[in-house]
Amino acid sequence: MNIETKCVQEGYKPKSGEPRVLPIYQSTTYKYDTNEDMAALFDLQPGYMYTRLANPTNDAVARKIAALEGGVAAVLTSSGQSANFFAMFNICQAGDHIVSSAAIYGGTFNLLNVTMRKLGFDITFVDPDATEEELQAAFKPNTKLVFAETVANPALTILDIEKFAKVAHKNGVPLIVDNTFPTPINCRPFEFGADIVTHSTTKYMEGHASTIGGCIVDSGNFDWEKSDKYPGLTEPDESYHGAVYTKDFGKAGYITKIVAQLLRDLGSTPAPQNAFYLNLGLETLHLRVERHCQNAQAVAQWLEKNENVSWVNYPGLESNKYHALAKKYMPNGTCGVISFGVKGGRETAIKFMNSLKLAAIVTHVADARTCVLHPASSTHRQLSDAELEECGVGIDLIRLSVGIENVNDIIEDLEQALINSQK
Ligand SMILES: *Cc1c(COP(=O)(O)O)cnc(C)c1O
Repeated sequence: MNIETKCVQEGYKPKSGEPRVLPIYQSTTYKYDTNEDMAALFDLQPGYMYTRLANPTNDAVARKIAALEGGVAAVLTSSGQSANFFAMFNICQAGDHIVSSAAIYGGTFNLLNVTMRKLGFDITFVDPDATEEELQAAFKPNTKLVFAETVANPALTILDIEKFAKVAHKNGVPLIVDNTFPTPINCRPFEFGADIVTHSTTKYMEGHASTIGGCIVDSGNFDWEKSDKYPGLTEPDESYHGAVYTKDFGKAGYITKIVAQLLRDLGSTPAPQNAFYLNLGLETLHLRVERHCQNAQAVAQWLEKNENVSWVNYPGLESNKYHALAKKYMPNGTCGVISFGVKGGRETAIKFMNSLKLAAIVTHVADARTCVLHPASSTHRQLSDAELEECGVGIDLIRLSVGIENVNDIIEDLEQALINSQK
């Protein structure tokens, strides 16, 4: 099946007489005929015991996302934050070291730099444009993984996936990439050597700004048994009668461990109702992502020519530093998010924001409706102008998430607000 067909058809295949649409299994628990049937579940035999670990609605949606990414197994989580945390925490523990790109989502940066440090992890942040030698210099004997975003939110840097995978593999560790912005419609990181993919399904995947969620997908390609770095996967888990994830579950070992240990102990399981909404979004993902990219390309080109705009950052523009990498890894487009500068600085930028009629001021990105954010006066308002420059968020920076409305209406709105901003 082609990816468009997978968006519509994968994950749930009803038998004769069963509901056509994926049912919402709104049940915490599952019934068994005998005590022995139930007992087998606690030795990790196939089946459902409790929705904190697994639920048939959630599983169907995870199967669809695994198919879209070309992975062997996947699990849903209640948010993108828990997806990234679980993807990493599944293969490391206090005292271990992580190499991460510095160009990542603010929430993930805090997770690594504040919360995971508190939990005893050592983190080295690297420039996403670092050379192989510079990347190599970040590794330590206790490094367990490399983390990065395929298209960084909000910096819009494009990851050289092959370069990061090569250096990670040379050091015997997997590359985990957050593929939220391009989605598997535009980029399938496993084809370029990434080992694990994560998603905030909250963004384009669900697509309507109605449901927070996350997903972790395993390519099945990383050989956990090649070294003694991953005892959690290769040595017996006494909480399940000595099960060894890589032996007993083969290529599904990594995902099974997340379910059996992290969802069991930490929760972060999505409500089946939310998985149902996510599935509705996924059914049109291929159509929406294409339109988001067409609209964003047209808007970026229009902004680039506008006299009231000082700069435009969009990887689809030929003038962009990442244009060549974008063409290589995501030839059909990157995402619908653009950043640009309004001429005149802070006050003009605020005036521009307040003049918009169609584009709404929200913190969210990547849903069907066009939305905008002025980080210097909102998410980053505690920083001084000098600090803002330092972290690459100028006082004039507008983050624009281009929706799937008619592009002429979006441009018309931007045009009148830009004119007003200069008055
Ligand atoms: C939003 C986002 C997250 C966090 O996801 P939530 O669903 O909000 O928890 C992680 N990574 C990226 C790239 C994001 O855009």
